[in-house]
Amino acid sequence: MIGPAVAWISMARPSEPILHVDLDAFYASVEVLKDPSLRGKPVIVGGTGSRGVVTSASYEARRSGVHSAMPSVRARRLCPEGIFLPPDFEAYRVHSNRFREVMLSFTPLVEPISLDEAFLDVGGATRLFGEPPEIAGKIRDAVLEGLGVTCSAGVASTKFVAKLASAHCKPDGLLHVPAAQTIGFLEPLPVGRLWGVGEKTADLLGRLAIRTIGDLARTPEQVLQRLVGEAAARHLTQLAHGLDEREVIPYEAPKSIGHEETFDRDLDDDGEILRELLHLSGRVAARLREDGYRARTVTLKARLANFTTLTRSRTVRDPTDVGADLFHAVGELYRALPGTGRRIRLLGVQASGLERAGAEQLALLRAGRWDDVERTLDRIERRFGRGSATHATLLDRDRGRPRSPAAARDPTLDPGFRPSGEPPYNR
Ligand SMILES: [Mg+2]
Repeated sequence: MIGPAVAWISMARPSEPILHVDLDAFYASVEVLKDPSLRGKPVIVGGTGSRGVVTSASYEARRSGVHSAMPSVRARRLCPEGIFLPPDFEAYRVHSNRFREVMLSFTPLVEPISLDEAFLDVGGATRLFGEPPEIAGKIRDAVLEGLGVTCSAGVASTKFVAKLASAHCKPDGLLHVPAAQTIGFLEPLPVGRLWGVGEKTADLLGRLAIRTIGDLARTPEQVLQRLVGEAAARHLTQLAHGLDEREVIPYEAPKSIGHEETFDRDLDDDGEILRELLHLSGRVAARLREDGYRARTVTLKARLANFTTLTRSRTVRDPTDVGADLFHAVGELYRALPGTGRRIRLLGVQASGLERAGAEQLALLRAGRWDDVERTLDRIERRFGRGSATHATLLDRDRGRPRSPAAARDPTLDPGFRPSGEPPYNR
């Protein structure tokens, strides 16, 4: 009899199933990984121009009072010895993808809220990995091992308490707030820490001498209503009592990433059609790299002038996020289409069978091999805008062809989109 009872206990949902995991001084930490000679120094990311703003500061810089969102002019005054660096979002994204991978190895219920923080619901993971505080510890170890940066984790019964807890124990900390101690934990914190309380609301509350979350919890909701309105009063009262019904909404990986284009006049020249496919392949590959995926399957879609739609798919041997590989596949699929002299209304390239590229990307980055041509193009485009760097073959593709802005449509941005009377994209 003991066996089943024990099993039942270990399967019961824990009272604090929510984790908030936050990488410490993320951008600055990645810069230290890239250049270990920066370790222990006041590294400040962002604000390299005279009018810039700090986006991340190492804890050494924070000791001088520098923090993110601070104008760089002020940061330079506070920390003249600071090492100011431009942000390298490519490296941050790769580490962020890896971070997400680590968390997903503990539970599928991961809700990323930015590159460096996420909520997790580990209520269903306890049989495998232990109680939530233990899981939080394992995740912290795995993040340090897999990424080389530290993180902080809050463990609580609700999302907002978990987030306050991780902020409370930064850097490199772990704080478990048992459900029964939630009110006591919240009590002394300033009201400004509450989700949805900005400077303006904090000022309003200050007029009633409501400065801490405890003050707020003791204020009758009717009094708050007169001050901030009914909905906000309800929200604030609930939070002040530790109530937050928001669930962890897991990130859903896309099933496919694709791009298609309808032309204002039908294309009948193979050279021109292949050039369009090269362009579309490049767009899809850039999205794959940006989102940290590689594709196993490449699909060509071609709609003819008579509205017949042809789709052809091919599975590539090695999953790829490189436009030249996608183009190689769709180019062959195009050439193998039946008939000749076809007139094309629409072309599409879609990548599916996606797998995460996280770990491998990180390995490339560490090996210093992060410099192939397409990734260089990504960097140039991010700096100077789309189309600023491109294949020589694509240089004249926009010349002399009017194109309505609505002509380009990305099916992955609009999953419900399917022109009427058309079979599903993939078949
Ligand atoms: Mg952070």
